[in-house]
Amino acid sequence: MLIKTAEFVISNSDVDKCPKDMLPEYAFIGRSNVGKSSLINMLTNHKNLAKTSGRPGKTQLINHFLINKNWFLVDLPGYGYAKVSKTAKRKFQKFITNYFEKRKQLVSAFVLVDIRHEPQKIDLEFMEYLGISEIPFSIIFTKADKLKPKAIERNVEYYCQELLKTWEELPPHFVSSSSKAIGRDEVLQFIGNTNLQ
Ligand code: GDP
Repeated sequence: MLIKTAEFVISNSDVDKCPKDMLPEYAFIGRSNVGKSSLINMLTNHKNLAKTSGRPGKTQLINHFLINKNWFLVDLPGYGYAKVSKTAKRKFQKFITNYFEKRKQLVSAFVLVDIRHEPQKIDLEFMEYLGISEIPFSIIFTKADKLKPKAIERNVEYYCQELLKTWEELPPHFVSSSSKAIGRDEVLQFIGNTNLQ
């Protein structure tokens, strides 16, 4: 898929105020600092469409971007920032589950994980939540430029093996690097294939 236009539409802290259009929607989510904003900018070919943040976990906003005037790319807040209180964590959980329960136009979520790290409990639990809620999702391994090809292969394989301990089937998964524009075509092609059905 070619990205012809990418426009910021609205930021919300309330899912009920998100766009009412029933355009297909794809949501990006992951731990703070995983490289989500950089990935969104890489996918859309924009330097600053999504704000790369120096202050992880600070803002809890749902950001809608209209792509090619026919689908929404949604930037969800990063989770798992250690320095927030339990109350803030609970509020955040509610905020996210609200989004996934209410956005019927959501076609698929992308859960971003840093390719350098071992599978993290918070990511696995989040994927389990998506599975139980029957929300289709893919995994995007980020920051692949930080590892050599053999290590990429090894880490992806290890991650998949961990997933297969609880999942019958693996979700689609992609390897990406925003600084080297790796994985761009694959992710966009996947969106194009599911979007045009
Ligand atoms: P977010 O908090 O998930 O939106 O993460 P950001 O996109 O703001 O990135 C967090 C940090 O990781 C920044 O310092 C980025 O420059 C860096 N980063 C993001 N993506 C990549 C990547 O693909 N490769 C490398 N080497 N660094 C990255």
